Amino acid sequence: MSAVLAENILTKYEPVIGLEVHVQLGTKTKIFCGCPIEFGAPPNTNVCPVCLGLPGALPVLSRQAVELAISAALALHCTVNPFSRFARKNYFYPDLPKGYQISQYDQPLAEHGYLDIPTAAGEKKRIGVTRVHMEDDAGKSLHDGFKDSDQYTYVDLNRSGTPLIEIVSEPDMRSPDEAYAYLTDIKQVMQFIGVSDCDMEKGQLRCDANVSVRLKGAEKFGTKAEVKNLNSFRFLKMALEYEIERQVEIVEGGGRVEQETRLYNVETGRTVGMRSKEHAHDYRYFAEPDLVPLRVSEHWLHEVKSRLPELPGDRRDRFVNEYGLREYDAQVLTLTRETGDYFEAAAKVSGDGRSTANWVTGDLMGLLKAAGREISESPVKPEHIGELVRLINKGELSGKLAKEILPRMFETGERASAIMEREGLKQISDTGALEKIVDDVLGANPKQVEQYKGGKTAVMGFLVGQVMKASRGQANPAAVNEVLKRKLG
Ligand SMILES: [Zn+2]
Repeated sequence: MSAVLAENILTKYEPVIGLEVHVQLGTKTKIFCGCPIEFGAPPNTNVCPVCLGLPGALPVLSRQAVELAISAALALHCTVNPFSRFARKNYFYPDLPKGYQISQYDQPLAEHGYLDIPTAAGEKKRIGVTRVHMEDDAGKSLHDGFKDSDQYTYVDLNRSGTPLIEIVSEPDMRSPDEAYAYLTDIKQVMQFIGVSDCDMEKGQLRCDANVSVRLKGAEKFGTKAEVKNLNSFRFLKMALEYEIERQVEIVEGGGRVEQETRLYNVETGRTVGMRSKEHAHDYRYFAEPDLVPLRVSEHWLHEVKSRLPELPGDRRDRFVNEYGLREYDAQVLTLTRETGDYFEAAAKVSGDGRSTANWVTGDLMGLLKAAGREISESPVKPEHIGELVRLINKGELSGKLAKEILPRMFETGERASAIMEREGLKQISDTGALEKIVDDVLGANPKQVEQYKGGKTAVMGFLVGQVMKASRGQANPAAVNEVLKRKLG
């Protein structure tokens, strides 16, 4: 089977995909105890009786974790339930000392939300968010990296009790690309509102997928398989492509897809059956007896809501409406909160959103990329881009010259005006100075002058070019045109 979905599959079949995304909340401490969360700390150093699951230890819910979870739910347009409950999800695993995870089951924190994702056609598609619930993370089994890793598995419980939210989507996605876009947007939104850094390498964003296929136009969903271990964007797409092809092949061969949990194997690029429905876990959920139900008052909800920044989608729309940006530029400029802030600060100085957007998404981002820097580390301050655009619009700097000056601003951190001043790079709009250059150019090109006077007006372009060259690109093109036309009669 190929890694890329064959064209003909998607003309006959329709994949149906839903995602379960785990996001680690960016709290300093764990969800039910005061142990610090520190990636890479020496194993089993950030632990206490609560997160070790010792008998008699009692959990205390972190207020900050709840507020971050509420922020996430609001950003996903969910209804936050005034009353929700924690539940025990029981299973045995070596890195789960309590013997259960504290999660939420029949009464989750929030429900009925959505996320609008951009589609390839440049439109928006609404993906339903079924629910957002809170839970604690398990520890980690370490299978390699030790001298005797071939004989033993080690357990690190530093991660045990880390706060997570699980975001469950509706089965609304119809291609691996849509799933990719959805996960990208989840990550963007969570980063935007400061809920999580979503660093996948640190396991702060994890994803499982429910996948089924059906004949195009069919009403009924096919039998789904749950694919686990999709811990990078690339793997998500590859695993979905593989799984869709696998299921289509079964259906085409007259077989039936089994409802099962499958694991994506990074090495082989395949999904492998882990357990079928008969062997599915029965988690024996029941209400967590050590925690009171979680009540979110109107007042608290309002308070958290008032602290939420503008969401990426809203900002995208506002950039289009307020600054007249093209949809694509608005999208690029809202990829991160910092990029949007930078653009707005620059546009405020320039008074010209569209040109500012061009300079930021074009030349500046090119320079940043080449230097391997983030926009927050840009040596060119947003006000300096704003000034650059203003100088161009005022006719004091040509666009061509500006393109040469920007890299120097990037190198030195100086303003365009400072560089122009020092190097005498002011655009020549002064008619007296221009006339002299024009006279020289006309004198040096009698043939072209003759042609122009004979009616071949196209030669004007050549003459303008000569004047620009003679002025080292500093002449104001509009003024040059004017002076030339006047001199040529
Ligand atoms: Zn602890």
